[in-house]
Amino acid sequence: MGSTVLMYHELSPVPSRSLYVLTESQFQQHLTLISELRQSAAAGLGFSITFDDGHLSNFKYGFPALTKNSLEAIFFVITGRLSRRSDFMTWEQLRELVTAGNEVGSHGRSHRPLTHLCGPALFDELRDSKREIEDHLGVAVESLSLPHGRWNRRVLEACVKSGYTRVYTSNPWAQPFERASTRIIGRWGMRQTVQAEDLKRWLEMTPLRARAGRARYTVKEMVKKAMGDRLYHAAWRTLTHAPLDFDDS
Ligand SMILES: [Zn+2]
Repeated sequence: MGSTVLMYHELSPVPSRSLYVLTESQFQQHLTLISELRQSAAAGLGFSITFDDGHLSNFKYGFPALTKNSLEAIFFVITGRLSRRSDFMTWEQLRELVTAGNEVGSHGRSHRPLTHLCGPALFDELRDSKREIEDHLGVAVESLSLPHGRWNRRVLEACVKSGYTRVYTSNPWAQPFERASTRIIGRWGMRQTVQAEDLKRWLEMTPLRARAGRARYTVKEMVKKAMGDRLYHAAWRTLTHAPLDFDDS
């Protein structure tokens, strides 16, 4: 498991208004860089690639690009949308991804923020989505990506109880930590503004720069708390032109 984890969402053959939709060619540039870094002297750099939501574009554009570069990814899927919405992947397509060596993880059943749920509703999201993937694909599911990046202690305990051993957040600066047998892992959200050179800087970042970044992120989190979760989310959506059900960064 790499130490730097990249988080992608939708891909598109043409530029999109939404900040989190990368073009196919931009994604290809990222992969070329990653492949180069892998083969260079800096091969000790660890990283992994993840996709959130389960968009059809992940299969259409992401999968061929990964294969071309001999790379694999973790695909976190919203199980309630698979094989139901035409812009999302089908179970059959996910089986192809698994056969090629990729991992499929849960991103919940409905994509509702887990912090807004309690009791059975919370466990339904976690356990049902896990079971659905396991039943359809015949693989063990141990990874979860938190919908909208939202979590708290209560949510984390429910993830542990539901059998997830790896929980991925949307916090780029998080130091990985363990709770019971579950590892909490931060990720870097990939936006249109992230060029290959930016990515290179991140992947080669020194511990000192990482420390400064963590401090900045803490300030952002304090602002988020002061504004309130829902208000912050609304402001963020306006700024990034994200659709209503899209992830926070
Ligand atoms: Zn999401």
